[in-house]
Amino acid sequence: MFSTLIEFIRDHYRTQDFIPLHAPVFRGNEKNYVAETIDSTFVSSVGSFVDRFEHDMAAYTGSPRAVATVNGTAALHVALRLVGAERGDYILTQPLTFVATCNAIAYCGAMPIFIDVDRSTLSLSPKSLSAWLEENAYLDEHGCCRRLDNQGVIRACLPMHTFGHPADLNGLVHVCNDWGIALVEDAAESLGSTYQGQHTGTFGIIGVLSFNGNKVITTGGGGMVLADEKIASRAKHLTTTAKKPHTYEYVHDEVGYNYRLPNINAALGCAQLEQLDAFINEKRQLANEYARCLSGSELSFITEPAGCRSNYWLNAVICADRQQRDELLSVTNGKGVMTRPIWQLMNRLPMYANASTGELTNSLWLEERVVNLPSGIRLNGP
Ligand SMILES: *Cc1c(COP(=O)(O)O)cnc(C)c1O
Repeated sequence: MFSTLIEFIRDHYRTQDFIPLHAPVFRGNEKNYVAETIDSTFVSSVGSFVDRFEHDMAAYTGSPRAVATVNGTAALHVALRLVGAERGDYILTQPLTFVATCNAIAYCGAMPIFIDVDRSTLSLSPKSLSAWLEENAYLDEHGCCRRLDNQGVIRACLPMHTFGHPADLNGLVHVCNDWGIALVEDAAESLGSTYQGQHTGTFGIIGVLSFNGNKVITTGGGGMVLADEKIASRAKHLTTTAKKPHTYEYVHDEVGYNYRLPNINAALGCAQLEQLDAFINEKRQLANEYARCLSGSELSFITEPAGCRSNYWLNAVICADRQQRDELLSVTNGKGVMTRPIWQLMNRLPMYANASTGELTNSLWLEERVVNLPSGIRLNGP
């Protein structure tokens, strides 16, 4: 069972050793740039690599500006603060995501509302979003979206581009505009992925990236806020302890965060970003080969949605049922090929079990069936 798949994976990675799900690869200027920060002593919160990383990432994504943070979760927290999320507010998101999405909501004192995903994108469904709002929300006299049951403010919508596959962004933008809801994109997994030629994370008011060790490129730990000039300036202020520029005095005008990305991490990021296009080409090639290997098998390989170009951060298959999913996980992991099930739905976790939910038919269906396959690029390249 699954021997063709395992053989293909071992062939691809050219090893009989353990194969991880996703490992970082450093084959460019990483050592040079990091050494430069050490030689200069500028390893911490000040340094030219931070500016360069932000500039290069804005250019790469087509965002007016980018602000680097210590990690993606911190970037999400600041993003939600900047669209006004506060205690008692509600944020619409998907139950099929990594827990960081919901934790950032909780840091603001807000509550998630879980809306179903589409099977074709694995990401938030505009149709389900619209249906839930029609039934449960109204626009008050100030154009503010509120819940019918308790008048709580529905402050933002936070879709996540699952495994790098873009959500139906036109649809989501449309629904959010109709309801006066701020769109914030959790693009932590989708650096390099585009929807109709435009980079994910640039459709909403704010987009968030992550450079954790398992993402497409890494800074060790790191994240980024993508936004226009005005919001990005606010993000910079909030993430640098809300310090006002002054020649020598310490002036802080609100409760800020120490969320700034250190220069040593930004150095790693600059080197990684230089290789991002090559990394994505290799990942897309691997996805192609998986699709070919699995065509005609019982496992259905997940491909990029129509009109999108995905970074194929994590490759995934849909199994016939839960039993087959368990078998695939058990056989592959038993043979030293790391595979993982998709996350448990967020509304199963104790801290989010009381959150409101819409109909979750697709999320429940996918939760039982989706398995991620090894997706890292090879140290020695193609
Ligand atoms: C990785 C990730 C984040 C951010 O994670 P950090 O480790 O804090 O950088 C947020 N949301 C999703 C969906 C992620 O996959």
